[in-house]
Amino acid sequence: MPGLPEKDILRFEQRLKQRREQLRWLVHDALIESKRDDYAKLADQVHDAGEESVAALLEGVNLAILEREVAELQDIEAALARIQDGGYGVCVDCGDAIAPERLEAYPTAKRCIGCQSRHENRRGGRDATPSL
Ligand SMILES: [Zn+2]
Repeated sequence: MPGLPEKDILRFEQRLKQRREQLRWLVHDALIESKRDDYAKLADQVHDAGEESVAALLEGVNLAILEREVAELQDIEAALARIQDGGYGVCVDCGDAIAPERLEAYPTAKRCIGCQSRHENRRGGRDATPSL
């Protein structure tokens, strides 16, 4: 099975967790600044979430300024979940190893470069959060 050395995975996990922490604070502050009681309550939960999914917590939140942060949190949480189940660094489409340089640039990458560009061509654009 293709995969990264354990020490690289640990390093990416550290980076992802650090970024997750930053994003949680950004989200926390934005929720507080929204001056809505229900969002202020959520802000506390975001702060205390531990290993829980903050993206799931924020599902009902409709703050345009947070869209990008929430999308990134989803990507990070998905990447951390792949680390847990041993699928990190493996392309979800073709099952090949994702190039380490690509992971250095995009630690949340879930496709190898070839599959990613095919994926984007199919969708006709940048990878975006699906909107309903
Ligand atoms: Zn691939």
